[in-house]
Amino acid sequence: MNKKSVSKILRHLPRDPTRLLDHLWAVQRDRGFISPLDIYELAKILKIDESRIREVITFYHFFFDQPHGEFIFFLDQSIISKHAGIDLIERTLEDTLGIKSGEVTSDRVFGLYKTSCIGMSDQAPAALINMIPFVNLTVEKALTLITCLKRGDDLLTLQKDLNCVPQNIVHQSLMTDYCWDQEITSLHAQKLNPQDIIQEVVSSGLRGRGGAGFPTGKKWQFCRSYPGPRVVVCNADEGEPGTFKDRYLLTEHAKKLFYGMAIAAKAIDSQEAYLYLRAEYTYLLEHLRLVLTRLQRDPLIRQIKWRIQLGAGAYVVGEESALLESLEGKRGEPRLRPPFPVEKGYLGKPTIVNNVETFVLVSQILEKGFESFRSLGTDKSSGVRWLSISGDVAKAGLYEVPWGISLREVLNLCGAQNPLMIQVGGPSGECVNATFDSVLDRKLSFEDLPTGGSFMVFSREREIFPILQNFMQFFVDESCGNCTPCRAGNVVLNNQLKKVIDGHGRQNDLVSLDQWSHVVMKTSRCGLGMSSPRVITTSMKAFPELFKNKIDSTKNKLIFDFDEEKAVADYDNLFGDHHE
Ligand code: SF4
Repeated sequence: MNKKSVSKILRHLPRDPTRLLDHLWAVQRDRGFISPLDIYELAKILKIDESRIREVITFYHFFFDQPHGEFIFFLDQSIISKHAGIDLIERTLEDTLGIKSGEVTSDRVFGLYKTSCIGMSDQAPAALINMIPFVNLTVEKALTLITCLKRGDDLLTLQKDLNCVPQNIVHQSLMTDYCWDQEITSLHAQKLNPQDIIQEVVSSGLRGRGGAGFPTGKKWQFCRSYPGPRVVVCNADEGEPGTFKDRYLLTEHAKKLFYGMAIAAKAIDSQEAYLYLRAEYTYLLEHLRLVLTRLQRDPLIRQIKWRIQLGAGAYVVGEESALLESLEGKRGEPRLRPPFPVEKGYLGKPTIVNNVETFVLVSQILEKGFESFRSLGTDKSSGVRWLSISGDVAKAGLYEVPWGISLREVLNLCGAQNPLMIQVGGPSGECVNATFDSVLDRKLSFEDLPTGGSFMVFSREREIFPILQNFMQFFVDESCGNCTPCRAGNVVLNNQLKKVIDGHGRQNDLVSLDQWSHVVMKTSRCGLGMSSPRVITTSMKAFPELFKNKIDSTKNKLIFDFDEEKAVADYDNLFGDHHE
């Protein structure tokens, strides 16, 4: 069969280098990977250097420059997936396929890989197969999949037949699932002038739901103060392990999301809006396009030039300046700041970047008025927020809670089972000890215990150290490598942590862990390096006795495990007995 030429594959795409990720996806979907010849042709078409294309391919997890199999399995390596049994599934697949993880079968039919959290922690263990999510996997299902795929069964049919289709399990909704009127929202937004819209958002006290909590109205105001053209960007790259609430909002509340973006566009006087969707949610792409097409009848939506950009797998792209780089068709490496995106963002234009939940809330605020939003939450953290709850709980899933809710109340809501450790806000958030009343009284809020939405519960039956190691390894894997403190510092921290866990640590190692953590946090360029050592600093604070016991056991080991005779014999074996 004749291969299609690259220009034929790309005939529907504009010859625009900012669309490089789309071009690469198109070539990879057709070929299975992107060959040197494809790169050569693509460079000619886009009039860019081949080296730029190569560096983009190597940056993202899901682009391949070599054949990786007809069916590519990416197994979710989040700690929740591990606790739910992904390792056993991995070993079963390795044995059945006769390959190791990271390899392709000799007939090039199956490829087996690991990946970071794919946003399915409420239905773990999970995997992506050719970018289609399979949840609630078991060893039996994995074996059935291999047998059925070998005989040519359809992947989507298998996903349904094996009950592996992701569901959105909402246990509590306070605002979002109640009626929302699209028409009222649109008319209200059309009636208000840009300053009134910004004032409404400022009055609501809405703060960005991505984690940092910057006041949304203020961000928009800043952006408006720089000369246009201006740009609206939605960050739908929720990559923090344990988070999946944007998956639900994108699936069930996409209309609100697009209206929120259109309202923001009117507020900052912008005609360009971009939705950056993480590659792990590729399965939502068509749905989002369809919703957007159907909304085109509304002039508020129609007057904007829209683009939905599919990412290609990189946690760091969740950082807003890295996301803008990726949106421009480059490696998703964070920029030096200032200037901030509100001044110089997408292609140098003043840009606001907000996340999915923030834009959904904007729609609700415009429809119901800021007072109803402010009636919930606390003074500095107004309104509600979505939590993605996973781990050792009776009811994993989605919870919309008012800011200011206590940790105890959240644990009661989800039926936490004998909780010991809670990771609030994912690995980059805070590790807390749930056995203390004072901790359980803490409030989820920007002023006490902030969270970007991930809420992982670990029971007393769990060992804490492997959880911490999983988190640190995640940061080592996901560091973009651009700045030394984060690239090297996370490796050092990971090794030091391993040394302590393996029982080779001394008191000095704990001091050193703490010092290194602060150096990495202070000197890293972006949020990844600034927050990754919190795995260590917050867990050392929450569980000091655990670290101390490790050091104490090391001391005993050093004294009692030393076998002098064996040591002398080992030395003689190595160097003979002619030494001085
Ligand atoms: Fe890259 Fe880490 Fe530096 Fe951020 S802190 S720019 S992820 S190396």
